[in-house]
Amino acid sequence: MNIAACDLLGLPRQQLKGQALSNFITAEFTRQPKSVGFPSGKSLMGELLVVSAAQTPREMEYTLTPNVLPHCHLLLLRDISQRRESMQAELRQQQQRVELFSEVTLKIRQSLQLKEILHTTVTEVQRILQADRVLIYHVLPDGTGKTISESVLPDYPTLMDLEFPQEVFPQEYQQLYAQGRVRAIADVHDPTAGLAECLVEFVDQFHIKAKLIVPIVQNLNANSQNQLWGLLIAHQCDSVRQWVDFELELMQQLADQISIALSQAQLLGRLEEVVAARTAELQEEINVRMQAEAALRQSEEQLRLITNALPVLIAYVDEQQQYRFNNQAYQDWLGQSPQKIYGSHLRQVWGEDCYQRMEVYVKTALSGQAVNYENDIVLRDGSWRAVDVTYIPHLDDENMVKGFFALSSDISDRKAIERMKDEFISIISHELRTPLTSLHSALKILATGRLGTLSTEGQQMLGIADDSTERLVRLVNNVLDLQRIESGKVIMECQACNAANLMIQAAEAMQAMAQQQEVTLVKQPQDISVWADADYILQALTNLLSNAIKFSSPGGTVWLTVEQEKNSSNNPKEVVFRVRDEGQGIPADQLERIFERFQQVDSSDSRKKGGTGLGLTICRKIIEQHNGRIWAESTPGCGSTFAFTLPTLEYANIQ
Ligand code: ADP
Repeated sequence: MNIAACDLLGLPRQQLKGQALSNFITAEFTRQPKSVGFPSGKSLMGELLVVSAAQTPREMEYTLTPNVLPHCHLLLLRDISQRRESMQAELRQQQQRVELFSEVTLKIRQSLQLKEILHTTVTEVQRILQADRVLIYHVLPDGTGKTISESVLPDYPTLMDLEFPQEVFPQEYQQLYAQGRVRAIADVHDPTAGLAECLVEFVDQFHIKAKLIVPIVQNLNANSQNQLWGLLIAHQCDSVRQWVDFELELMQQLADQISIALSQAQLLGRLEEVVAARTAELQEEINVRMQAEAALRQSEEQLRLITNALPVLIAYVDEQQQYRFNNQAYQDWLGQSPQKIYGSHLRQVWGEDCYQRMEVYVKTALSGQAVNYENDIVLRDGSWRAVDVTYIPHLDDENMVKGFFALSSDISDRKAIERMKDEFISIISHELRTPLTSLHSALKILATGRLGTLSTEGQQMLGIADDSTERLVRLVNNVLDLQRIESGKVIMECQACNAANLMIQAAEAMQAMAQQQEVTLVKQPQDISVWADADYILQALTNLLSNAIKFSSPGGTVWLTVEQEKNSSNNPKEVVFRVRDEGQGIPADQLERIFERFQQVDSSDSRKKGGTGLGLTICRKIIEQHNGRIWAESTPGCGSTFAFTLPTLEYANIQ
């Protein structure tokens, strides 16, 4: 061993001799080697921790060359402790810088406000570099510029907001900086720094002795060239200063951060513009919607005002038969507020009995058909009211039923008047019938001449009186018939009847009249069974035949036919009787009206043809009582057909 080895191991040569090397190499080292040896030619190299006799540890680099002499290896040791320490110091410093840098970067990133970012940058750089002044100089498009952010020690003048003429920062410098040039001037007065004399004078004003300048470059888009936005500048005013790499690096990296912040600020600006524009659009949309809603509310209020002012029940019912709208009348009539009724089912509002009377019409309305009917309802005070009800279906764009509008008006007064009128007519008719019958008989006796012979004129007058009396008797009988049927006092005594028999009897009854009018009566009877009250059906048939004969011209023909109609499942459903003539016909707009009381196509018909205007009304009542239908068809000038249906025996029994 040499002297250095003795020093290292802390023992004189004599004491060292014979000692095992392992005494000086820590167990710790063997467990946790600092470096792994590797083969290098014949030698083995590596690092190990040697502990001297005085327990001083040292990190050593070793080279072990085996068998330099027989059974002897050569071990070279080099102390690397110092090198390692300086490396660690360097690492610590770097670590510190990284921490500082990330701290500043974080502060910058935490803000989206450019002004704040710039302020943070200059403050932090000044703090880290311990510089006397740090500023951001913004280059304007015309080549001039000004300080827009600064952090300066109080001993030195501020450059904030100071505008610099173009000469201070000539175009060629700008281009150099745009390409990324960085300038670190340790001493502005040093001629090798290359500052023009005028510039040196200029910087002297602000006590600048050393300066460090890094560009803040902006890349507007991928295709365009870099543009110089400004400079990040650090000044040393109290003395000259040798700028070190780390300081340069820090400045450069912060300048890059600023340039990123600039792009973000621009994006933010654009985003804010977009947001502002969209906000304006949204505001507009909101305004429009609010206006529409206000208009809707107003129209709803108006609708409510109008419907509430009307003395009728107005409602809207949905497909589930639930109320969706009611006017105030519901409250007044039924004592149920529109709020309580809203969403309730019809059955709930009207009660089971009343609902059963209306159900069939509700279903009709929900099948898409408008419907009108009369019903009796009980009011909140327990009184009964007759109402006229109309349901109008509500269809959507695809013609699907969404619900229906319901309108119910109180017709109790009208009904009472009608009843009184009917009763009055009935009493009058009864009272008239007896004297009329006597009058008629008296006139007939006079006409026989048994009580004396009348002059020709007297006989004519007697004829007129007899005709008029007959008409009066017919009218009174018709009025009484109608009144009896309408009052419900008459019950149709239905039984199985042969259609052919009914037709033959009716035709026989009208034969004389047909002959008198020179009209041929053609009947086509068929043996079909119908469910009917024979007397009333005969009355209807003779009435229709008498009209057909009455409105035919001499020489015309009247047909009486019958046929059986089947329903969709081919079952005999109803029998249709038809009375067809070749007379004057009926205008289309009168086809329905003539079934109403005292309605005649031509008011002179009653005088000319001796009608009362009640025949068809009675026919309709009779047929309806049989669950049948009656209607008229006509081609004016070519005659008319009156048809009515009666249920077949099978169908009536099924029902
Ligand atoms: P009327 O006693 O007046 O015949 P109806 O009720 O039987 O009363 O008939 C009403 C009106 O219908 C008649 O006045 C007439 O104008 C018209 N009408 C009825 N039947 C026919 C027909 N077969 N041809 C033309 N018009 C008819």
